[in-house]
Amino acid sequence: MTRPPNAIPPCLACRQTPGHAQLCPCDDDEATYYLQHSLPGGHRDWTPAGIRYTGTPARRTAVRALMATTCWARMHGNPELPASPGLLIKAILAEFGSTSRRTARIGYTSDYLTTVDCRCDPWRCTHEHDTAAGTSPDWLTNPGLDLDLLVNVTLVAVEIRWPELWQTYWFADVGGAVNLAIDSVSEISPPGISVACHRRWCDLCPGDTKPGPRDRARTPCPCSCHTGTPS
Ligand SMILES: [Zn+2]
Ligand SMILES: [Zn+2]
Ligand SMILES: [Zn+2]
Ligand SMILES: [Zn+2]
Repeated sequence: MTRPPNAIPPCLACRQTPGHAQLCPCDDDEATYYLQHSLPGGHRDWTPAGIRYTGTPARRTAVRALMATTCWARMHGNPELPASPGLLIKAILAEFGSTSRRTARIGYTSDYLTTVDCRCDPWRCTHEHDTAAGTSPDWLTNPGLDLDLLVNVTLVAVEIRWPELWQTYWFADVGGAVNLAIDSVSEISPPGISVACHRRWCDLCPGDTKPGPRDRARTPCPCSCHTGTPS
């Protein structure tokens, strides 16, 4: 489970020992990911900031399993949220600034995962290297692990609707928000679509949009939800 203390483990991102590869994201403050995985229609960036919680295949398996339990709320009016993720989501949206106006949904997990907040260099964490691929680490039955290092992590998510892209920002709630991953999926709406349908709030679309200065009538919203042929 734990490597001998005298062996320097390879970097989780660039696999080098004892230094780092020239382009390793650990030395790059601007890096937005240390690992990229594909998603249907897009990709997921695992962020350097979150490597402590996502830096091994087993940890990513645990985080993905937790992501799958996310409860989503439409960011319309004042969505009702439990107090604890609600305050954190508010703080995150404040950080997003004007981009927060593009929020389509916010999400939070009611479940949590138990993970280890160890004192290793997060890029060379020595824990849990023996956990089989595709399984989550079981810290509680891990011999020799200091149980004081265990933390319970919930996730919150913010889904942003850009003109041609969906982005979901995933954060771990560890007393503050740590960005773990950013999902980007392309989707281009038909021109002239209403804001509601662009965000998939089809039930809120009045069916047409405000006429431009030269139009005489309101323009029908081109979203497929109005024609009865869902795309
Ligand atoms: Zn490295
Ligand atoms: Zn560690
Ligand atoms: Zn629609
Ligand atoms: Zn519409």
